[in-house]
Amino acid sequence: MSGSLPAPPYHQPAHHRRNRRYGLALLLALLLLGLVGVLLWRSALFSSQPRASSVSAVGSSAGTPAPGHSPSGSSGLPSPYNDGACVVFPPLGANRQATVFVDPGHGGPDDGANGFTTGGKLIHEEDLTLAVGLKLQPLLQQAGYTVVMSRVRDTAVPRLGPGDLHGPLFSVQGKDHDLFGRNACANETHADLLIGVHFNGFADPSVGGAETIYCPHRPFSAQSLRLARLVQHDVLGGLRADGRDIPDRGVVIDTGQGRPLTNRAYGHLVELGPASPPWFTDPTMMPGVIVEPLFVTSPAEADLAVDAGVQEVIARSLERAVEAYFAQT
Ligand SMILES: [Zn+2]
Repeated sequence: MSGSLPAPPYHQPAHHRRNRRYGLALLLALLLLGLVGVLLWRSALFSSQPRASSVSAVGSSAGTPAPGHSPSGSSGLPSPYNDGACVVFPPLGANRQATVFVDPGHGGPDDGANGFTTGGKLIHEEDLTLAVGLKLQPLLQQAGYTVVMSRVRDTAVPRLGPGDLHGPLFSVQGKDHDLFGRNACANETHADLLIGVHFNGFADPSVGGAETIYCPHRPFSAQSLRLARLVQHDVLGGLRADGRDIPDRGVVIDTGQGRPLTNRAYGHLVELGPASPPWFTDPTMMPGVIVEPLFVTSPAEADLAVDAGVQEVIARSLERAVEAYFAQT
């Protein structure tokens, strides 16, 4: 179009100035609209919660306020989550009207379990969980689910406060806050299902295998168990598909595993277990499991865990299990 109707030269400066003025006004209006939109969205997100945010409740019950926390119903305050944490992804294609919370375990000051490949390469659980999570996210979106990622990068989930770090690592309190932040994100986004992705670790490098964990002490434990069986079946089947010999450690409950989860006599996994007032008041409110497909401390399995193709197999198996779960509901 340009050039077909040349404007008279003497009009041009005024024309351009006017356009620039209109352009500026339009830009300002769009910016304002965008700001109002963001504020409304945040307000809707935080005011639709049935209760005050877990991070705040936990912080006060633990005797330390959680910094950066947005009180319920407020807007325009800093997010209680780090950049790249608690991120919502819309469904692509047909909307299944269901939200899946995907939690790549650890991250930021928390490496998780460490291990070595057969070639002697040091690997960190936090990187492997994120790799699988980031492969699972688009698969679930394409299947029509809203996906909430607890994190999409190497970060703690909630913003950290005083006492949350001990040197470069989490303090016990900081680890609690990080887990409570994941719970808060799952609850605030009204997730229908929780998939926690971890990798196992053990002192004996000959120990390996896949297992899926659920909590038998929740109102929705029957659904969690059903999901756990689907996840264990599909993930193990996926890993064994190429003739790999992965031991089946089965579906296990989240108590009595001797895991040093917290320094308290709680026993459950915080992302799956029930409340334990006063220190833990906001458990996750949806069926969920934690899958541990491989041991990073087994060099043979570490080789698989770092393999992008194997990570894709795990992600596809998890997506299939989610599909099967919702197909039966
Ligand atoms: Zn872990």
